[in-house]
Amino acid sequence: MKKYIKIILLLIFISVNLIVTPIIKSEATELSSSEVTEKQLEEIISRYGEENLIFENGLILNNGDEIDLSKVINNEEIIEFSSNDDSIFQVEDNTLITNNEGVTFLIGKSDSKYYVFQVYVADEAATIANLSEDDKRDHYVVYVDAGHGGKDPGTSGNGVIEKELNLTIASKIRDKLKNYGVNVVMNREADVFVDFKDTAAHANSVNPDVFVSIHNNASTSSSANGIETFYTKTIDLPYGKEIHNRLIEYTGAKDRGLKQDTYYVTNHTTMPAVLVEGGFLTNAEEANKLKNNDYQEKIANAVVDGIMEYLKNNVELNPGDPEVPEVPENPENPEVPENPEVPDETLKGWIFENNNWYYYDNNGVKINGWLKDNGVWYYLDNSGAMATGWIELEGKWYYLNSSGAMATGWIELGGKWYYLNSSGAMATGWIELGGKWYYLNSSGAMATGWIELGGKWYYLYDSGAMATNITIDGWYIDNSGVATKL
Ligand SMILES: [Zn+2]
Repeated sequence: MKKYIKIILLLIFISVNLIVTPIIKSEATELSSSEVTEKQLEEIISRYGEENLIFENGLILNNGDEIDLSKVINNEEIIEFSSNDDSIFQVEDNTLITNNEGVTFLIGKSDSKYYVFQVYVADEAATIANLSEDDKRDHYVVYVDAGHGGKDPGTSGNGVIEKELNLTIASKIRDKLKNYGVNVVMNREADVFVDFKDTAAHANSVNPDVFVSIHNNASTSSSANGIETFYTKTIDLPYGKEIHNRLIEYTGAKDRGLKQDTYYVTNHTTMPAVLVEGGFLTNAEEANKLKNNDYQEKIANAVVDGIMEYLKNNVELNPGDPEVPEVPENPENPEVPENPEVPDETLKGWIFENNNWYYYDNNGVKINGWLKDNGVWYYLDNSGAMATGWIELEGKWYYLNSSGAMATGWIELGGKWYYLNSSGAMATGWIELGGKWYYLNSSGAMATGWIELGGKWYYLYDSGAMATNITIDGWYIDNSGVATKL
């Protein structure tokens, strides 16, 4: 059965508020959700015959959705759709009507084959409505990513399988956060596969206050041990410090550092995010500790305390009644700058002086910051001087060419390509342009050749475009760009 699980992209998102248990309990015996999935697949295979099945990407829907399948699934060969479990959704005249939350399969019948789509119906009320009212939120929202799962076991060693340990620790973190009244959303609560790109996209749609990804480590050297925490974005760093310092303090593990790297989930989430590597399964001593409930508790407590400390100091909740602003008794006089610049009304527009360009407004005052002139953006620094080259502003990089004009799109500098999006901000991580994916590393330089991200390999042509559906150097690259050794 494993090979069927492997070829399906399970797009399963499970939030804490979303109940997995009813799916499990609807079966007579205690089955995990992946066992339910396997059981359903076995039935489908015996009904239609293995050789007649084609597995397609899954669908995620909200309970209450009704969708026109002829619009969503672009496959003219399919004559008729049916549901594997009408209690979750039914199909009438090409319209899929959701009935209940849960996971089952959509079957598309063609002349000679059956197309199989896994469908996940989420409880909309629990996942969406709860979280979209953020302006009047009286609680924090935290996203917990339990790394790997399902067909992807992660690493393993000394009798510990990473996906299982990650879920155990992530669940402890969830429970402890819930005790603080935090609304916790997870990418998975069972042994199911969730693509890390989908996890990042899901987290962005939930828009939590912070994101934490739980992983454990491996090394070719059995002596390697300790905890490392990864971040990508500038906003991740203060958050990461709260967690990482406590991890070391609470566990006494070797401090491998709080390190910057471009893990997909930290790079592609919009909120402060970190990825914790709790310990090395390949180190016998550390693996033994990690098996131990007390040690898992220490890790979970460190993460939770770090999260709570960060939230307390950085996220303002709105508890209901607005606070009355304090009025100072003796308002201070506004500060008067000591040597205010005297405007010179004879100066107007671009003026070249002291080897720099300045821009004077109609009142003869030098402009600072961004200026749009004749449809082109320029940046004038604190002294009013026009910037050229790379500048960093609020954690984003911009490139101003030698005329001062802000660059957008692809630029080549020192033999490397960079991409500046339409706001001028330098892109990092994955970007999609003209239907092709490109990867820009944390310095912004476009990657080519083989790259490893989040434990997966991708191949980028010399043009930077990600390879798909091809075999290169004995590796098969699937339609999502992920390479598997043949
Ligand atoms: Zn991992």
